[in-house]
Amino acid sequence: MRQCACPRCKRPPKTLVRLPANFKCADVICDFCGYLGQIKASVVSDINAPPKSILGAAWEPQKQRMDAGIYFPLFLVLADKGMVSHAIYYLAADLQRPDMFLPRKPLSENARRAGWQGFIYDLSAVGTGLVRLR
Ligand SMILES: [Zn+2]
Repeated sequence: MRQCACPRCKRPPKTLVRLPANFKCADVICDFCGYLGQIKASVVSDINAPPKSILGAAWEPQKQRMDAGIYFPLFLVLADKGMVSHAIYYLAADLQRPDMFLPRKPLSENARRAGWQGFIYDLSAVGTGLVRLR
């Protein structure tokens, strides 16, 4: 992520810093302007074609944030299967809508995290909102 300029302050790259893994709402912060973003990584066959959907995280906190009108900018890092090349896409927070976030079925009682419910990002309707950074 240090290869990307911060989308808010547009400072030269290297201002986006990883947050600790236990930091719940975001993955990176700009150490100049305080901008927060989430990162999702995925391995795909063609990095020039963003997937129609990607796996998100826990549904409950996502739903609570949406109920409060809070969205975080999303960086989508795509790597090809050989991990040779990658692409970074960006979806601004103000282009996100509740119907992009689809709850998944809660995990069954036999699962290690029984009852846990995740969500997927439905990117099929985002269109040109998803811009390629590099
Ligand atoms: Zn910034």
